[in-house]
Amino acid sequence: MKIRIQDLEVRNLEFEHQFQAGEIDFGSEVRQVGVLQTDGRAELIREHHGGNKSIEDIRLVGKLDGRIEVSCARCLEPVEIPISRSFDLLYRPLESERGSDEVAINEAETEIGYYSGEGMELEDSLREQILLAVPIKTLCRYDCKGLCVTCGANRNEQVCGCEQGKPDPRWAALGDLKNKLQ
Ligand SMILES: [Zn+2]
Ligand SMILES: [Zn+2]
Repeated sequence: MKIRIQDLEVRNLEFEHQFQAGEIDFGSEVRQVGVLQTDGRAELIREHHGGNKSIEDIRLVGKLDGRIEVSCARCLEPVEIPISRSFDLLYRPLESERGSDEVAINEAETEIGYYSGEGMELEDSLREQILLAVPIKTLCRYDCKGLCVTCGANRNEQVCGCEQGKPDPRWAALGDLKNKLQ
């Protein structure tokens, strides 16, 4: 969904939309499950920079709800994560950043991004918001046993019988000592 400066100059854009899985590309690590629901509005914010110089920002306020699937960091089985998030974002024209003096607005309150040309795609913002919400490391369960390093079996599902790692050499040394003492 294109958000155009030209349209925002006339009126704010209210949106309510459902994206089907596959409509937004989240890359190879993250997959959308079911529909992604979003609603909110886009509005134009004019920043005045003295004289008649001003730049036009796009403010995007809204929320999104959906579910995504990522792989367990240990066993690689799919794990579903619900994502529910509100956002309040400010997009500045990329062109305004080139060689202009520092813009003073309260940057702590809003996350700032950039748009170029005549506007931006809502999908790009949603993608970014969802990727930000994905935990760095997801486990299918807190005590996931992971894959066997020797045969690749999922150790949550089967006992493969491979030796899991070498015994700690410090214990081996203690064992030797114990043998000598006997
Ligand atoms: Zn797992
Ligand atoms: Zn194994």
